[in-house]
Amino acid sequence: MKREIYDEDHEAFRASVKEFLDREVRPHLEEHVAAKSLPRDFWVAAGKQGFLGLEVPEEYGGSEAGDYRFNAVLTEELSKVNMALPSCLGIHADIVAPYLVHLTTEEQKKRWLPGFCAGELLTAIGMTEPSGGSDLAALKTTAVRDGDDWILNGSKTFITNGYSADLVLVAARTSPEKKARGITLFAVEATREGYSRGRKLDKVGQDESDTAELFFENVRVPNDNIVGELDNGFIHMMTWLPQERLGSAVTNLAHAAQILEETIQYTKDRKAFGQSIGQFQHNKFLLADLVTRVEVTQAYIDQCVLAHCQGELTPIDAAKAKWWTAQVQNDVLDHCVQLHGGYGFMNEYRVARAWRDARVTKIWAGSNEIMKELIGRDLGL
Ligand SMILES: Cc1cc2nc3c(=O)[nH]c(=O)nc-3n(C[C@H](O)[C@H](O)[C@H](O)COP(=O)(O)OP(=O)(O)OC[C@H]3O[C@@H](n4cnc5c(N)ncnc54)[C@H](O)[C@@H]3O)c2cc1C
Repeated sequence: MKREIYDEDHEAFRASVKEFLDREVRPHLEEHVAAKSLPRDFWVAAGKQGFLGLEVPEEYGGSEAGDYRFNAVLTEELSKVNMALPSCLGIHADIVAPYLVHLTTEEQKKRWLPGFCAGELLTAIGMTEPSGGSDLAALKTTAVRDGDDWILNGSKTFITNGYSADLVLVAARTSPEKKARGITLFAVEATREGYSRGRKLDKVGQDESDTAELFFENVRVPNDNIVGELDNGFIHMMTWLPQERLGSAVTNLAHAAQILEETIQYTKDRKAFGQSIGQFQHNKFLLADLVTRVEVTQAYIDQCVLAHCQGELTPIDAAKAKWWTAQVQNDVLDHCVQLHGGYGFMNEYRVARAWRDARVTKIWAGSNEIMKELIGRDLGL
């Protein structure tokens, strides 16, 4: 079905993203897997191309388009390559960016945003802790006032870009007596004494992304590094959740659509019992089912993208988009593996990696259960 949400400017931008990926990324995909991270060269090249500053005003080195459809185009094209690219780049340019643009002082903007846009100051966001991620308001990392500084203690886990990040947005408890209303966001430089990283975590999929534990042992952070308002970090995080969920949804669906397209071609080429395996009625009907599911879902996601451009995407509609696309993606990819037969279980086949990569989308950034809990609450239940 023809999609209506993009105009020629978006498509020209898409062409530049594709060209960048062919030139700078695809030749190095196996190196990314071996390194368990994206090299700094990648970030700097993406910065030069203007991909990291889509949310950032020009005066700080960005190209603020003021139109989320450019973010969506970038996310779609990255997702067609693999899941790790939109995850790592998305954390930096789509998830951390709004905090650094909308909640910072002039001095902070000047300090962080030019390097952020250039790929020289790589960022991450640390919300989840070893004791739990779903119940964010219960986080245990503390920040205690000491003169003009704060002393941070605690740890974070599963942090995307965590191993390489130069600056991490850390959610810490500043008022122990207040649960959700006692959390503050701190921008913590990786060079601070007492800040350390664990190893790059050994994941089931997305080998190319670095995911790490972070530890804070009496880390002294100046008051000037608070992002947003004191004790208002939880509300700040909730404010930017629709964009995070929408980015996940765009990724999930674009990734599933790409692998499905490749699988359809495979079912045309692969023969059994003297015919293409796609011609068996079971497989033909299955593929018809999957293509329909992807296209119908695309219509909802496109509406969400347009709503977000108007500032009207609700956290609940974004939650629907996130869990539904994660489910569709995982269902589609499981069938794609099955249609590849034994090759579908071989890591050298894209479909096998894609299937492993996708499993986490039902867990991260708010699990499917948490999304349904929120939707249920919105129904008054
Ligand atoms: C690869 C990867 C990258 C990540 N990147 C980041 C990152 O960059 N920054 C960051 O802060 N976090 C990150 N995360 C963390 C992720 O957001 C959390 O894993 C997720 O929110 C779930 O938290 P948890 O793992 O502690 O599970 P838990 O909260 O312990 O949940 C365990 C299970 O219980 C279920 N559950 C919990 N509460 C309820 C409830 N009320 N009703 C029903 N079921 C419930 C959950 O759905 C889940 O199935 C990442 C995780 C992964 C795996």
